[in-house]
Amino acid sequence: MNLSKSKFTRYLQCPKMLWLDTYKRELAKEDPALLRRFAEGNEVGDLAMGLMGDYVETTAYTEDGRLDIAAMLKNTGKYLSQGVENICEAAFSKNNCYCAVDILHKMEKGYDIVEVKSSTEIKDVYLADCSYQKWVLTSAGLNIGRVFIAYINNRYVRNGEVNIHELFKVEDVTDRLAPYENKVGETTREALSYLTQKEEPPMCVGKHCSDPYPCVYHDYCFRTLPKPNVFDLYRMSAGKAEEYYQSGIVSLEDALTCRIPLNAMQRRQAEFETFDLPTHIDKPGIRAFLETLTYPLYFLDFETFQTCVPLYDGIRPYQQVPFQYSLHYFLEKDGELCHSEFLADEDGDPRRALAEQLVSDIPQDACVLAYNKAFECTRLKELAAAFPDLAEHLLKIEGNIRDLLDVFRDGFVYDRAMGGSLSIKSVLPALFPNSPELDYHNLEDVHNGTEATAAFLSLRGMEKGEREKLRASLLAYCKLDTMAMVLLWQRLKEFCI
Ligand code: SF4
Repeated sequence: MNLSKSKFTRYLQCPKMLWLDTYKRELAKEDPALLRRFAEGNEVGDLAMGLMGDYVETTAYTEDGRLDIAAMLKNTGKYLSQGVENICEAAFSKNNCYCAVDILHKMEKGYDIVEVKSSTEIKDVYLADCSYQKWVLTSAGLNIGRVFIAYINNRYVRNGEVNIHELFKVEDVTDRLAPYENKVGETTREALSYLTQKEEPPMCVGKHCSDPYPCVYHDYCFRTLPKPNVFDLYRMSAGKAEEYYQSGIVSLEDALTCRIPLNAMQRRQAEFETFDLPTHIDKPGIRAFLETLTYPLYFLDFETFQTCVPLYDGIRPYQQVPFQYSLHYFLEKDGELCHSEFLADEDGDPRRALAEQLVSDIPQDACVLAYNKAFECTRLKELAAAFPDLAEHLLKIEGNIRDLLDVFRDGFVYDRAMGGSLSIKSVLPALFPNSPELDYHNLEDVHNGTEATAAFLSLRGMEKGEREKLRASLLAYCKLDTMAMVLLWQRLKEFCI
């Protein structure tokens, strides 16, 4: 049994996660968003290879496409003996522990390590990861000087070719490794011994199931808990939920019986679940909200993508870039429901064309409804900053936005089926339980924002038929988001009759 860097950090998060990886991998339920982030991390690693100057890379693959560790170890040995200044993916193995260092940089006496991360900050888990690498390399006989983490500078704005020396910040973390370094040897021995157990080890669920990374075995380990449970309480911190769980407070009924402190929304969630209460409708509250709306009335929803490495000039790392919107609207009271939409061409920066169509689609004096308006408002302000000639109109639209979420956030409507979630994807089926045409699961290809992002970014280079089909799926998804708002608004009006 061997330990790699990722296995070591998984063991630190939860020993059982590593055990399940080894013996019951088929139970893992991968999160597409997390997989995309890991893939992006690999791309960032490739981009960073030149950070310390000219380099060689050891990476090698077997015929079936897996990493060829033996070849990488051999290549590393060869480059070390040649005195190469920068070795990327420098591979080492000692005492059944393996790692590949992003950049091994030769110094006068020994080597420095540079670990590359696609995050915009240095997290504790990275320090543990670097300590493991330093320990493996030192055990293998290398003299390690300093350890650096290269991470993303979120103030970088692309202007022409990506400048890796501006995109990355490189920080010396050598002195911050001490608390982790002392424990690496013992932890690796424990982990290797833990992996020899053939019987599934017990393990309590808790904060570690989502921190620092969401665990792919969540559904499996939580299957014995009642659903919903204290971990599902609205905005309950995982640490607090773990404390309750460990003291025997598991179900929402337990939460009420044991009188744990609950905010208004959590209390409502627990009471509706426990006593199976009917839909709560606060007519005066709803009416007051509806009276703030005027005609023409528009329902707006953006889709965006964000990438670690900005794709276009004028964009920062991880900036939300709008590429699509859907717009349902009524020009007058009791008028006909109309629809307009925009989906950018995938080959260039989508923002200018989107902003131009948006100002032609929405008049400056229109009342605009969004769901969780902070997102749409921020995108509009960013577009206004990027295109000063359209700024006045864009900022007028932004100033006219009302938030449909307020009705639910203010507690004017609550249904048990919302399960404490105010997301439109929870509210819609709760208020329209028998409407398969409104079920996002019944859409083709694109069912949520993460999939919309991935779909749009995958359009480039796609064969025509496949591309048209995926674009149609993107349009259908975004259209359902604004249709959902229209239907919720109509249902609110019905509640007030
Ligand atoms: S769900 Fe939690 S307890 Fe289960 S393996 Fe993952 S981290 Fe460990």
